[in-house]
Amino acid sequence: MLDGVREAVRKFLKSSADYETAVNAFIKELQKTLIKSDVNVRLVLQLTKKIKERALKEKPPPGASKRDWFIKIVYEELSNLFGGDVEPEVKPKKVPWVVMLVGVQGSGKTTTAGKLARFYKVRGYKVALIAADTYRPGARDQLRQLAERAGVLFYTEDVDDAVQIAKRGVEWAKGKGAEVIIVDTAGRHKNEIDLLNEMENIAKEISPDEVMLVIDAGIGQQAKALAESFHKRTPIGSIVVTKLDGTAKGGGALSAVAVTGATIKFIGTGEKLDELEVFKPKKFVARILGLGDLEGLLERLKEVEESGKLEEISQKIIEKGDLTLEDLYYQIVSMKKMGSLKKLLQMLPGVGLMGGNDLLKQVDDKVLDKWLAIMNSMTIEELRKPNIINRSRMRRIAIGSGTSVKDVEELLKHYNMSKKMIKQLKRKKGMLAKLMKQM
Ligand code: GDP
Ligand code: MG
Repeated sequence: MLDGVREAVRKFLKSSADYETAVNAFIKELQKTLIKSDVNVRLVLQLTKKIKERALKEKPPPGASKRDWFIKIVYEELSNLFGGDVEPEVKPKKVPWVVMLVGVQGSGKTTTAGKLARFYKVRGYKVALIAADTYRPGARDQLRQLAERAGVLFYTEDVDDAVQIAKRGVEWAKGKGAEVIIVDTAGRHKNEIDLLNEMENIAKEISPDEVMLVIDAGIGQQAKALAESFHKRTPIGSIVVTKLDGTAKGGGALSAVAVTGATIKFIGTGEKLDELEVFKPKKFVARILGLGDLEGLLERLKEVEESGKLEEISQKIIEKGDLTLEDLYYQIVSMKKMGSLKKLLQMLPGVGLMGGNDLLKQVDDKVLDKWLAIMNSMTIEELRKPNIINRSRMRRIAIGSGTSVKDVEELLKHYNMSKKMIKQLKRKKGMLAKLMKQM
C-alpha cells in the first residue's frame, strides 16, 4: 500500500533534477500515495506542509547531502504521525485488565492472544486466556494449546453461545486472581452483521478495559472500512498489526490509526509465541520507507556526525597546542569507529600543510590496531606524559601488548612528529585560519 512512498524515496535520491524540483515532485508523490491509502486529507496536508517548512529552513550538517537530510526529515515527520519517539504504554492501568481481541478471520487474533499471554506472563502477571470463538472449528483447541505453551490459565465451554462463554470466562478468571484476561473472539460468522452484533454483545457483557483490533499487515485498502465497522460497534482502543515479517507493507495500519484514533501497540513478526514486539513508530516507518535504503542513509548521516566529533577533538588539540598519547589514542579510537583511514588523514590537524601526508600514507588499519594495543598496555601516566617512557618501560609495554620494542619506538616516533606539527600549528594558527577561510 505504501509501496509508492518507497518508490518515491528511491526516485528522489536518484533524480538528476535540482533540489527544489525534486522535493516538490516527492511531496506530490507522497500526498498522492497517502490519500490513495485513505489517510485523512487534512492529516496529509499538515504532514507535507511541515516537511516542506523544515526542508526549506534546516541546513544539513557539513558533509551531509541535502537530499539525505530531506529524507531524514520525511522519516521523522512520518514517524510523528505514528506517535514519534513515544512508545505505547503496554502496562495495564489497573488489575484485572480485560482485553478483548477483534478482527477478521485469519488476521492473527488467536495467535496474538497466545503471544500477549506470554508477553504479560513473562512480565510477572497472572494471565488467563478465554476462547470465545465458537464459529471456527478447532479455534478453541488452538487457543488451549497456546495457553499450555505459554503456561497461563485457560477457559472455554463446549457451547455455541460466545457471549456466555466470554462472560462466564471473565468471571472465572477474576475468581482465579488473573491480572490480565484476554478474550479471543470469532473473525467470521454467517454474515458480517452477525459478527459485529456478537462483538457488541460480548463487549456489553464483559466491559473490556481495552478492545484490540488485530489487522493483517497485508490487508491494504480494506483496513479503513474494516477498522471503521468494528470501531462503530466496539470502540477500538489499540491496534495490533500482524505478519509484518512477511511483508514490508503495513501502510493500511496508518488508515486504521487515522480512522479509529487508536494507536498501534504491538506488531507481530512471526508465527512463534515470542514474535511479538512493542510497536516502535520509527522502526515501522523505516520499514515503510524501505529499510535498506534508509539504514544506509542514517548510517551515512551518523558517520558525518562522528566525523564532526573527531573534528572537535582535533580542534581542541590545536587550541591546546600540545598533544599527549592520550589525545592520540582517542583520536585513533574515534577514527576507527568511522572506519575510514582516509578521513583521518584528511582530518588530522594540518597534516597536508605540514607535509605529513607521506608519513600517514604508510599507516594502515593494522598499524593502528597495533598502536592501540601498545597504548592499552601503557599506564595513564605514560599516556599523559610520554617523555617518561624509557627503555625499560618500552620493554614492559612491548611484552604487555605482544609487540616489539621497535614497534613501541615507531609509535613514539610518530607521536613526537605529530606533537611537533601541533606545536608549529599553534604558532601558525592565525595563518591557518586565514587559509581555511580561503578554502
Ligand atoms: P485468527 O483467525 O484471527 O485467529 O488468526 P490465527 O491466529 O489463527 O492466524 C492465522 C494464521 O496467521 C496462522 O497460520 C498464524 O500462524 C499466522 N500468523 C499470525 N500472526 C502472524 C505473524 O505475525 N506472522 C506470521 N508470519 N504469521 C502469523
Ligand atoms: Mg482465531
